[in-house]
Amino acid sequence: MPLFCDVALAVPLDTVFTYAIPPGMEPVVGGRVLVPFRQQRMSGIVVELHDRPPQVKTKKVIEALDLAPVLDEHLLKLGKWIADYYLAPVGEVFRTMLPLSAEFKRSISYSITDEGRMALHLAGMSGSPARSKRTPDEQLIEFRVLDYLAERENMREESLRGATRVGKALLAGMARKRWIAREDVSAARDAARLVKVAVLRSVETPVPLAAESDDGAPGVPARLDGQDARPSTNVAKKLNENQRTLIETLAAAGGMVPVELLRGLDVPRTTLGTLVRRGLIELIDEPQDFTTSGVKLSRLKPRQSPFEFEFSAAQKGALAKIGAAVASRKFGGLLLHGITGSGKTAVYLACMREVLEQGRSSILLVPEIGLTPAVAADLHQVFGDEVAILHSGLSDAERAEQWHRIRRGEARVVAGTRSAVFAPVSDLALIIVDEEQDSSYKQEETPRYHARDVAVMRAKMAGAVVVLGSATPSLESYYNAKKNKYALMELPDRVEMRPLPEVEIVDMRQEFQETGQEQVISRKLAEEIRERLEKKEQVMVLLNRRGYSPVVLCRACGKTLQCKNCAVSMTHHKRERKMECHYCGHVEHIPDKCAHCGSEYVYFVGTGSEKLEELLHGMFPQARIGRLDRDTVRGREDFERALNALNEGALDMLVGTQMIAKGHDIHGVTLVGVVGADMALGLPDFRAAERTFQLLTQVAGRAGRGQSPGKVVLQTYFQEHYAVQFAARHDFAGFYEKELQFRAWMHYPPYSAIANVLIRSEKLDEALTWSGELGRWFEKTRHEGIRVLGPAAAPITRLKRDYRYHFILKSPSREKMNVLLRAMLAEAAARKIPRTQVIVDVDALWLM
Ligand SMILES: [Zn+2]
Ligand SMILES: [Zn+2]
Repeated sequence: MPLFCDVALAVPLDTVFTYAIPPGMEPVVGGRVLVPFRQQRMSGIVVELHDRPPQVKTKKVIEALDLAPVLDEHLLKLGKWIADYYLAPVGEVFRTMLPLSAEFKRSISYSITDEGRMALHLAGMSGSPARSKRTPDEQLIEFRVLDYLAERENMREESLRGATRVGKALLAGMARKRWIAREDVSAARDAARLVKVAVLRSVETPVPLAAESDDGAPGVPARLDGQDARPSTNVAKKLNENQRTLIETLAAAGGMVPVELLRGLDVPRTTLGTLVRRGLIELIDEPQDFTTSGVKLSRLKPRQSPFEFEFSAAQKGALAKIGAAVASRKFGGLLLHGITGSGKTAVYLACMREVLEQGRSSILLVPEIGLTPAVAADLHQVFGDEVAILHSGLSDAERAEQWHRIRRGEARVVAGTRSAVFAPVSDLALIIVDEEQDSSYKQEETPRYHARDVAVMRAKMAGAVVVLGSATPSLESYYNAKKNKYALMELPDRVEMRPLPEVEIVDMRQEFQETGQEQVISRKLAEEIRERLEKKEQVMVLLNRRGYSPVVLCRACGKTLQCKNCAVSMTHHKRERKMECHYCGHVEHIPDKCAHCGSEYVYFVGTGSEKLEELLHGMFPQARIGRLDRDTVRGREDFERALNALNEGALDMLVGTQMIAKGHDIHGVTLVGVVGADMALGLPDFRAAERTFQLLTQVAGRAGRGQSPGKVVLQTYFQEHYAVQFAARHDFAGFYEKELQFRAWMHYPPYSAIANVLIRSEKLDEALTWSGELGRWFEKTRHEGIRVLGPAAAPITRLKRDYRYHFILKSPSREKMNVLLRAMLAEAAARKIPRTQVIVDVDALWLM
């Protein structure tokens, strides 16, 4: 067995750590180990086993957690590629890839052995040899453990020690005598693991919470089992407020409740541990019904089957192409450019079904908001229990369960958001990235990977096929298709040859001149809305800015109300009666006078979706209006509920932010009004035109998906802008040609690789010093073929208390840029600039 192992730990350091392997321990490459790190224990992934003694004294591995790798060869390789490409610490990459944090604490459990039962049995006879060699105290404790285990199948170490009040050394001694068996649960899980979730249950011992408890609160159940009260013991009196809250909640829930639910109680986690140690509550594992994947399927009406209609010739063509690529068992990249309403989803599901029938695996990636309960229901309808669904609403334990199901090969179809690209499927044949241009695929924290690009790399490594689907492909993907890196497939028509909506542009500057005042809703749009409402047709109105008013302005001194943590305006939220920063979440009271000069002339300027809804209520009092934005949608189910209300005709109009533009399919909508979608065109952001074009195209695509043709009224202050003009004409090719020219001139992607290097600190002088030092270093370093812009103050100069300066790097050569960035990080480390304050964002989507 090798003497050392290199371990990747989830810490912000670009290195792995070497540990000595104690004799008898057998860690595996790709498996987890528990190691001491600084003052704590951490779990990490073994990346190499070797016999090279390191320069410094090494610590020992505490425990090998897995018998078999949790990251197979392919995923390990993929993780290392991500760490290299995005300059992210490899341990942090692995942590992102493995959703198993819920498991670490419950890795060891004990059960009684036959020898243990025999010892217990003999102990009943006086003078037995089993008792004689130890002190009476020790014996008593050991028999207490045996007694306890004899009545139970298997106990987690934590619970066992809590219940019997014994130390680890004593348990280890008993295990050596083979009275009890010690089991490494996370390792054993690989072989045959029952999926379990921790559940709390009150223990049999009645805990009297009588009326005479400290606060004498009325309504407190007398006993956890709901039976008669007994005179109080000392136990209840010794409970503090947090402990009592927890026990009362448990009692009210019938004595047993999932741990997750207790998290909402605002009681510290340690309370739970204390109560377990005192034997007042118990943590038990319970198998969970995982086929539901956190979605209550019974509450969902099955939708029309996605396979009920005939495939068009174009759809059949796409299916055949993808099928042939999969059959070749070689890497292939395909871009499926299908206009809105052209039936891309049906193509995806049909391909995935074919792959499943061949006994192979597939992964479908969808944007954050794309995985609604209805989509999950569709997937279950087609794939039954063979599908695993991963989304942001899952708890850690649920995520871990899904991971194990996939790992065991029980779910060979995986659908999920960004991190589903790491699903541990075997024999991967196909990855589909739906709405591949969606910005939710980019993780905006370390590791800053783009799931679409990782999907392409994973497919390359696995010899699989990747399909990127979109109505509005990103410039990068479209360019790759033009250069024949991807095969381009087009779905140019809507299903059943429904026409694309007519788009009418309203110039808001002219509207202002003609009406003499700033309008939110133009006369034209108002007229069109009225017409639809009279015909009992439905309307959507997009304003891509939430809240009531985005700016509070003092008319006396001209200053606006800024967030105290960020250099941005606070947004007024009228119904919730607050000012909120949309960047850091900071909340303040609504000001009645100016914070700078004390003047009472403060004005709320501009319009957000909340105000738009109010305005439309005023204009159309009879209409039933719903709103869809981050203030009204907290989870996937809220989103679904609003769309269902529209679908079922319970709403006449839906207003909202870009959320309303995302790929749903509501047939009654015949008019889409765009009130504000071009704000981005005024920002210093090279992707602004692309984003605006995509948003306009997506939202226009919501109109006329049923029998009646649709219309779009597009209000804009940038009438001549090519993004607006091409979107209005549904001219994708025209937009791409124009935008590619601009990118080529400006040396922006896809013609150049780009990276944003952000230096941040809560102290302004630190941020300035560090960015200055690195700026001088960049200046004197030879870096041919790489443009370095900066240091400059970032467009948002202060965010979440940090002052921000940045560099933008552009280069036609990714390799050269990567080398320079790596050297820069080494320089920063040498200058003792903390790694967490230097953010390297390769292929940055935002330069703000
Ligand atoms: Zn003022
Ligand atoms: Zn803020």
